[in-house]
Amino acid sequence: MQCVKCGAKAVYYSMHSGHYFCAKCFIKSIENRVRTTINRYKLFDPKDRIVIAISGGKDSQVLAAILAKIEKKFPEVTLMALTVDEGVPGYRDFGLRRCKGLCDELGIPLTTTSFKELFGYSLPEIVSLAEKKGLELKACTFCGILRRRAINIKAKELGATKVATGHNLDDEAQTALMNLLRGDALRLLRLGPRPIEEFPGFVPRVKPLRYIPEKEITLYAYFKGYPLYEVECPYVRASMRDELRFILNEIEARHPGTKYAIVRAADKLATIGANLKIRVKSCKYCGEPTSREICRACELLESIGVTS
Ligand code: SF4
Ligand code: ZN
Ligand code: ZN
Repeated sequence: MQCVKCGAKAVYYSMHSGHYFCAKCFIKSIENRVRTTINRYKLFDPKDRIVIAISGGKDSQVLAAILAKIEKKFPEVTLMALTVDEGVPGYRDFGLRRCKGLCDELGIPLTTTSFKELFGYSLPEIVSLAEKKGLELKACTFCGILRRRAINIKAKELGATKVATGHNLDDEAQTALMNLLRGDALRLLRLGPRPIEEFPGFVPRVKPLRYIPEKEITLYAYFKGYPLYEVECPYVRASMRDELRFILNEIEARHPGTKYAIVRAADKLATIGANLKIRVKSCKYCGEPTSREICRACELLESIGVTS
């Protein structure tokens, strides 16, 4: 088969477009789709100070590289990168090295923080405190909530106006289903493509890779020669997200387009969610924005006997 763009030998068939691509044109097509998402949903403003949340995994490497390329045309935009070390030994070390290497290559200043620095404990220490208390909570619950909190705290310190994350189509389909299965209608209604409205104290998040399937991100990273994680987080197998990843991949193989359909349905729900008026308060412990008296991060830390 030949590449639809240049006639060279094709290496990939894109279900999205129904076309065959060579490696070079495939890379370009992904970059164009990210550019389209940014423009269509007005993810950035010309003077944004963007913090890219980067872990060193394939998604955040691809996001940082594409944003560095796209934003070159917008000299008033500031790009920064931020990585959060959860303190999982043997797993995060590769990511931290890769974040440094990639940011040096791209000329993006990198800030590193950690759970230990911000919350006093690493993730394994938090998990063991939870086990001692007999709590059923999974490592990923602590990790996800505390990482989001860490990113918001540091993004504010860096004077960021947006936080860009590397969530891809698969992540977004999993999150939509997870919200549904947990009965969390509010989160489901707010999982849209546009930045959630600005609450005082909350740096709006954007996901420029939201419509790119995970396998295409992996292929982009492969064609670009990016080193990828060889070990996975020891906690990943215990997560609901991992179960849903498996289930969704099976359904997608039999019914191509399912993940895209779920994300599109979430987009439609988000147009309703955008009109919801949510009263945002300051957490009475840490002062971060929350819809409750005590934010979820403080509630989790309190449940294991840690005060923030
Ligand atoms: Fe954190 Fe879970 Fe991801 Fe491990 S798998 S890095 S615990 S969210
Ligand atoms: Zn080509
Ligand atoms: Zn709090």
